[in-house]
Amino acid sequence: MHAYRLFAEGPKRVTDAPVAEPRDGEVLIKIAGAGACHSDLHVIDANAAGTSLFSPPFTLGHENTGWVEQCGPGVTNLEVGEPVAVYCAWGCGRCRACLLSAENYCERQQLLLGGGLGRDGGMATYQLVPSARYLVPLGDLEPRDAAPLTDAGLTPYAAVKRALPLLTPDATALVIGVGGLGHMALQVLRATCGARVFAVDSLPTHAHLATQLGADRTFVAGDDTLAELREATSGRGLDVVFDFVGAQTTIDLGRKLVRPDGALLIVGLAGGTMPYAQGKIAWGARVSIPFYGSIAELRETIALAARGQLHARVTRFPLERVTDAYQALRDGTLDGRAVIVPNG
Ligand code: NAD
Ligand code: ZN
Ligand code: ZN
Repeated sequence: MHAYRLFAEGPKRVTDAPVAEPRDGEVLIKIAGAGACHSDLHVIDANAAGTSLFSPPFTLGHENTGWVEQCGPGVTNLEVGEPVAVYCAWGCGRCRACLLSAENYCERQQLLLGGGLGRDGGMATYQLVPSARYLVPLGDLEPRDAAPLTDAGLTPYAAVKRALPLLTPDATALVIGVGGLGHMALQVLRATCGARVFAVDSLPTHAHLATQLGADRTFVAGDDTLAELREATSGRGLDVVFDFVGAQTTIDLGRKLVRPDGALLIVGLAGGTMPYAQGKIAWGARVSIPFYGSIAELRETIALAARGQLHARVTRFPLERVTDAYQALRDGTLDGRAVIVPNG
């Protein structure tokens, strides 16, 4: 089968990857869509720099949907052809976190491996999933365009849910970075709370997308952004800041803007660090680094989409054009998310 795989020497599309036969408890998925996440670029770049946490080779793509193709022995309650979302953080399945379906916070794995992150992912004709518990029914959603729900939707959903007690109608939230995750975060905020929502992006096109998605005010990142945002909150600061970039400039922007007893959630992984010392962030502020979401939260994210309140802006690419998709992601020319459709 065709697959886009990361090797020690870099990523490469191959046409002769074997299709695995599902063993006990495993399920083979025919891939509908595999979203291109900026984390893939971090993984590819770290691999090139020799600092990767993962050991290649493995197939990329951790944001996947598809149809059940074949069930291994012992798998029941799944129909061949059923459209499903694939949950990508594969924990031990036995610890407290995993039993609560939060395999993203598995207590037994220092480095969480999953499909597309150290193990074979969905940028391929088929993906082997180790357990049926990672498959969430998609119902009537278009499977190709639903792929981003499994990460670009789920991760912001779980981050917003964690901050909901602070997101009252008199509060203001800031979304930094209106790309794959950020454009979903804006919709999740609109659907789940009454807070005023601001957005900032370094690209005018992406700031404009935020306006289209209902942000109350948008800003193009520049030298004056801190002052502009302070003024926009009458000097009070932001109740909650969601940083979907994670660069030094954005972490600094977020920590300087968050109000006393507010929250800064750093989701992006662009290599910035969060300094801690008196005066670096307001008293009482909570800083957290949410990672992905639970399987139950994937179900909730899909339900939000099924109710028409969450919709990924998708550009489809055949697997043959996967490098164009990643280049567009790097260049910032995408509107929302690129989704690879290996089966057309
Ligand atoms: P993306 O490239 O689609 O979006 C990033 C957006 O940030 C773009 O719109 C870009 O123009 C904007 N941007 C870049 N630098 C900026 C700056 N200095 N100021 C303002 N805006 C800026 O990326 P994505 O796929 O949405 O991923 C975003 C980040 O989240 C990545 O670092 C990714 O690795 C990370 N991520 C984390 C998790 C998690 O669970 N913690 C999950 C998925 C992705
Ligand atoms: Zn991702
Ligand atoms: Zn576990």
